[in-house]
Amino acid sequence: MKNETNVIRLGRPEAGPDVGMNSPVSLNSTLHAGGDIGYARYGNQSCLDLENVIASLEHGKTLAFSSGMSAFSAVVSNIPNGSVIVASDQGYAGITETLRRMHNDGKIVLRFVDISNTAEVLHNMNDAFMVWIETPTNPLLKIADLERIIRHAKATGVLVGVDNTFATPLRQIPLDMGADISLNSVTKYMAGHSDVLAGSISTNNKVIFNAIEFTRKISGTIIQPFEAYLALRGMRTFSLRFEKAESNAKILSDLLSSNEHVKNVYYPGFSGVVSFDIHGTPEDADRVCDSARLISNTTSLGAVESTWERRRRWQLESETVPETLIRLSVGCENVDDLWLDIKNALEYIKMI
Ligand code: PLP
Repeated sequence: MKNETNVIRLGRPEAGPDVGMNSPVSLNSTLHAGGDIGYARYGNQSCLDLENVIASLEHGKTLAFSSGMSAFSAVVSNIPNGSVIVASDQGYAGITETLRRMHNDGKIVLRFVDISNTAEVLHNMNDAFMVWIETPTNPLLKIADLERIIRHAKATGVLVGVDNTFATPLRQIPLDMGADISLNSVTKYMAGHSDVLAGSISTNNKVIFNAIEFTRKISGTIIQPFEAYLALRGMRTFSLRFEKAESNAKILSDLLSSNEHVKNVYYPGFSGVVSFDIHGTPEDADRVCDSARLISNTTSLGAVESTWERRRRWQLESETVPETLIRLSVGCENVDDLWLDIKNALEYIKMI
């Protein structure tokens, strides 16, 4: 079945008289012996339901986590000491900083590359254990040539992990292209309502699946039942919301491109995130973010409501990101209302 159907119909109890449409949220740390779960650090039914849906989109077996970062931590905690890791020098700051610290602690040998420069990526991959690819990147929306990088990785025995948070499996399915791991911050588009933290790892590699599942069991980073329920509830409208956010984003990126206050617009398509930098100072950019009436000045992305922020307000953000860059996560509001809000907020630059 198609994705639009799967996100709505999968992950539900088998039909029967008086069986609910949704699995009950089981708030139990322990379960009677003899079943498949046994203890809440090992599993819960809402988590299994959510995994079922994500697996259908990502075309692999899925493990759900308490956040995107705990999913990523489970991956890197399974990397052998001293491994060479190739990763984008620009991407979600939590991930690049984790890799940088592992390198500084002598756990891995990190090679940062410009992920949109395929020749540079391939050149650095030859003796690598894994290449970690975020595409499009957060927040510059750089694109990696997944097909070429994965082809080279397969030929040279390098593992490929893809952070699929921005494009989502509705727009790209890394496992179908040969990647070994696809990660999602489910917090973003999949859950989509700014009310839950969640993450996922999908893979078709049994060894990787077992290792990551063991890490999740031992570390207790499984998604909790109520969070899994919320994420799954959000998932029901994932494809509707994503379509709308993406079409709004396309319109807004064009309008931003012709606005006098805007220096550059970064928008490769297939996402609801548009980044742009402005003519002005970082303080001007902060003022723009604070001046909107509709769009909230908040971090994160992928929610039903539009949000934006100046990314460099975060200390860990890469210096390759312009100081005045605003990352706009376009939601599902009326696009004319959104543009009016953006245009008015940009006018504040002139008023000072
Ligand atoms: N990957 C990307 C691309 C992100 O943008 C984020 C969070 O912003 C994460 C991973 C981490 O996800 P979480 O916040 O759910 O831990």
